[in-house]
Amino acid sequence: MSAEPLHAVIIGGGVTGLAAAFRLQQGLADQGVMPRLALLESAPRLGGKIRTTTRDGFLIEHGPDSFVASKPAAGQLVRDLGLADDLVRSHTGQAFIARGDRLYPIPAGTMMGIPVRLGPLLRSPLLSPAGKLRVVRDLFAHGPDLAGDQPAGAFFRRRLGNEVVDRLIEPLLSGIYAGDVNHYSLQALFPQIDRASRNGRSLIRAMGTLYGHAKPAPAGNQNRGPFLTFRTGLQALTARLEERLAMCTVLRNSTASAIRKQDGHYRVELADGRSLDAHAIILALPDAAATSLLPVAGSAIPPVATLPPTSVANVVMAFPHGITGTSLDGTGFVVPRGTGHAITACTWSHLKWPHVAPRGAALLRSYIGGAHDAQLVDAPDEAIVDAVMADLRRITQLRETPAFCHVTRWKHAMPQYAVGHLDRLEQTRKAMAAALPGVFLAGASYGGVGLPDCIRQGEQAAHALVDHLTQRNLLNTPETLHVD
Ligand SMILES: Cc1cc2nc3c(=O)[nH]c(=O)nc-3n(C[C@H](O)[C@H](O)[C@H](O)COP(=O)(O)OP(=O)(O)OC[C@H]3O[C@@H](n4cnc5c(N)ncnc54)[C@H](O)[C@@H]3O)c2cc1C
Repeated sequence: MSAEPLHAVIIGGGVTGLAAAFRLQQGLADQGVMPRLALLESAPRLGGKIRTTTRDGFLIEHGPDSFVASKPAAGQLVRDLGLADDLVRSHTGQAFIARGDRLYPIPAGTMMGIPVRLGPLLRSPLLSPAGKLRVVRDLFAHGPDLAGDQPAGAFFRRRLGNEVVDRLIEPLLSGIYAGDVNHYSLQALFPQIDRASRNGRSLIRAMGTLYGHAKPAPAGNQNRGPFLTFRTGLQALTARLEERLAMCTVLRNSTASAIRKQDGHYRVELADGRSLDAHAIILALPDAAATSLLPVAGSAIPPVATLPPTSVANVVMAFPHGITGTSLDGTGFVVPRGTGHAITACTWSHLKWPHVAPRGAALLRSYIGGAHDAQLVDAPDEAIVDAVMADLRRITQLRETPAFCHVTRWKHAMPQYAVGHLDRLEQTRKAMAAALPGVFLAGASYGGVGLPDCIRQGEQAAHALVDHLTQRNLLNTPETLHVD
């Protein structure tokens, strides 16, 4: 037990917890306070879902491979960590949708399959004439608005028809969320679209207002894609954060098992019998793990998630002598459900990120699993690799055999923001503030799954925590840390 409670314990050493710890350290030091912080991580390594390895000259991302450049939190953190010069931008290129065993270009002028400009969609062979007519109807008539949140799938079906949802929107969304479009919260996933298309406005016109100004990358400027990573892989970010936690005690192989209220502060119990006392806590964990730690007094706290997270696996295949096949002049493809394919998405990583493979070599990264094919994730590696290879041979006419493959399973790792997510999150935060003041939730289960959103949430939790300590006059205490 600490002689004097710590300022804070951060539980979870993924990017959310690391960003939170880094900003907490800064925030306390800025106030002239020697930070007394601990970060608990159950695994032997930090980084959570971010994991990069190398093999035979290939750079392999086992979890996320990049982050979107347009959200500022990640860029600012990267600059503050002195890593900006190591950033690499994705190469642009055509992305495809598989239908049957053929690849069709994703029409230009769409955002996640939702039309911003109609022309390219109307010229695309992906939709039938009836499907196109149904999309055009959005310009003229649609049913009354529903109050509050609604399923994204139902909303897009009402506005644009089933075809564009099933053939375009659903597979593109599944590529990010690995869930079911019919259950996603419109307000959580598309807050701007929800607001802009209310009051009887055409969705397509609203999309034009929101995104019509975005310019495609100029010809010949291939490496101006929307995503960023680091020359040595995404793990450069979490490794640098870890290096910078000089004023935070990092405890790996340390699983938090319970939080209790104790003498005006909190006691974090660890599975191995140790404990830490702290004035405040950041829970940078998947929702189920966070909820399981809350004390009995917190059982009045409503859960945020109403759908279980889904499982996926990614399969990286390395081809040292390159590959042949059709359509290999783009960045990858996604696969609608119900087509009999195991693959849900595939990236030609060596084309999107030339630094990840030796010259002349190819690196493919395919996904399987998600809400509609959970069982395959539990199959043996060989069965997963065989299913992916069979699909690649059919869809892209791939003929080569990979020199090596890596299968990485992510069980229950993809949070599902179901209808009502934002309201539940607000209620949960209010209930936490009342029952457990100084305990903050952050991470992929709550305010966005992408890395910039996770970083932003970690940073916001850090700011809120410093405010909490300041308001309660808890910043002027001695500087020792003992772990029992
Ligand atoms: C396969 C895959 C691909 C993705 N691709 C992208 C992408 O390309 N771009 C993008 O922006 N996002 C992507 N994402 C999403 C993004 O990677 C995650 O949302 C983000 O990394 C989550 O970070 P986090 O810190 O919130 O959670 P996590 O990374 O899950 O970290 C939570 C940590 O808490 C630890 N923990 C759990 N329970 C306890 C406990 N009781 N005590 C102590 N520690 C505990 C865990 O071991 C873990 O390290 C992807 C996600 C997956 C799974």
